[in-house]
Amino acid sequence: MIRAIRLLVLLGLGVAAALYLRQMGGNVEIAVGNLFIGVPVWLGLLGLVVLFGVLHGLLTGWKWLRTAPARFRARRQERHRRDGDLAVTRALVALAAGTADQARLEIRRARNLLGDTPHTLLLTAEAERMAGRNDAANEAFRTLAGREDGRFLGLRGLLRDAMQREDWPAAQRLAREAEATQPGAAWLREERAALAFRTRDWKEALALSPPAAMTGHRRAALALAAAMQDPETASALEKQALSADPGFAPAALAVARRQAAEGSPRRAKTTLQASWASHPHPDLAEAYLADEVDALARVKAAENLTHANRTHPESRLVLGRTALAAGLTGRARAELEALVNSGNADRRAYLAMVDMDAVELGDSAAGRTAEAKWLRAAAAATPEPRWQCLSCGTTHPRWEPVCEECGTPGRIEWTGTASASKGGAVAVREG
Ligand SMILES: [Zn+2]
Repeated sequence: MIRAIRLLVLLGLGVAAALYLRQMGGNVEIAVGNLFIGVPVWLGLLGLVVLFGVLHGLLTGWKWLRTAPARFRARRQERHRRDGDLAVTRALVALAAGTADQARLEIRRARNLLGDTPHTLLLTAEAERMAGRNDAANEAFRTLAGREDGRFLGLRGLLRDAMQREDWPAAQRLAREAEATQPGAAWLREERAALAFRTRDWKEALALSPPAAMTGHRRAALALAAAMQDPETASALEKQALSADPGFAPAALAVARRQAAEGSPRRAKTTLQASWASHPHPDLAEAYLADEVDALARVKAAENLTHANRTHPESRLVLGRTALAAGLTGRARAELEALVNSGNADRRAYLAMVDMDAVELGDSAAGRTAEAKWLRAAAAATPEPRWQCLSCGTTHPRWEPVCEECGTPGRIEWTGTASASKGGAVAVREG
């Protein structure tokens, strides 16, 4: 509307100017040789305007003709891009729907239209993998890894494939390359941690697992496993294991062994005591009493070890057994009967009662009756706790990082789960 008004005003002005010039009169004279042309001023001006219009039209037409191929190319590219994008979308839908053949078809179309871009290469690889053509998938991933803008995506795909094929050396090499491309990527950290677990590189697994992602017990087990692999840093790793879970007996035993070897037997005993206070374990008592030869000295040592949780079933058992060995049958009976009456006794307590009655009653009728009674109770009692693989159930003489029977790492646990804490309450130990 405004344009129309403006045009009308311009036309009006033009007509007014022409009329004004016509009223003014006057001629434009052009002389070429003998030829003499004379026109009125207004006609001359009109002729100039027309000439300008014609020239302008010719130039515009020429420019339009000259840029026509470029415009044609751009339009074709635009159409390819649009069709390519549509094919990519259809390929994504097919991938999500799990129709691998359709996805391959669409992504091949998209690749023809768009060329090799990180998108099309990645989708090619995913579609090929879904169709079970791993070689073709890896080919696409390798092409992707060769590009500056798609290196991480390519390495990521190749790494995943290497891990699936359980080709650990290749997986480790690819993980290192990917780390160099994209340092600190969260996904890569998880993959490298999984890789470290699979290759049983406990130190790496420990370094890559964030503290918040695992329980203290799991962290302790991992640190101790790392210590067993690396004698150079074993000392620090053992301490790390013990501080992550003060009740993890194998860690306490390792730290105490090292302290004793370094000439600090008192510190070793303190370590064992502290671990016993946190979570009593028969191996701790065995290590604590190992260098006590005299039976009465062993009773005293057992008292020292257990003073923090005297009424714990393990404490009562070690006190009862050492007292019995020293001939202190009254003490022994008090501890063992209290243990049996508490309902927390396992087979070991009943077998200790058999020993005690054998000492006290000897080979008499009463002795034989008592023995039969305790043996029956022992048969019905909970079996003694032991190191057992929670995956396959195999019993192990000591804690190990991996169950060699079934190959599962981190599943060997102490089966003595019910334990009375210092206050005498029953607590269940987390796995
Ligand atoms: Zn196992």
